[in-house]
Amino acid sequence: METIGHCEGCGQLKQLNQRNLCPFCNQDLDRNMKIISAYLKKNRSASLEQLSDETGLTLHMVKKYLMEGRILVSDYPNLNYPCYFCEERIHKGYLCKNCSTKLMLEFRDMLLREGHESIEDYIRSTSTGRKLPELDRYIVEGRMKKES
Ligand SMILES: [Zn+2]
Ligand SMILES: [Zn+2]
Repeated sequence: METIGHCEGCGQLKQLNQRNLCPFCNQDLDRNMKIISAYLKKNRSASLEQLSDETGLTLHMVKKYLMEGRILVSDYPNLNYPCYFCEERIHKGYLCKNCSTKLMLEFRDMLLREGHESIEDYIRSTSTGRKLPELDRYIVEGRMKKES
């Protein structure tokens, strides 16, 4: 089913597919992923920088694919990048374990200050309304993690 919205690739208001991409960006993504997997097949120990250099894709782009889980990092030990908050190297999401735990605690404090009894209580109260702003991506260790 197609909808109109802002494309996650180019940000323009376009007709989108299920990946939230316009046809142009969708094609781009498919082509880039092919380039990446072809390169990684031959270079299992490549770093993120090498991957970017050798494929001609920007570092920003390959990092984004990695964060989004489009590249299966378990096969490639050197594909990693620093945590959003500290220098710990990670290969999935935005935060290292330590920071995500801290963020989780801070988030809980914030909810308690706002009068919610618990995170679960907060989720229940919002489950039909607005969704949590990006937080399901940040809270890695906690119960809020959504299985995808
Ligand atoms: Zn687009
Ligand atoms: Zn960290």
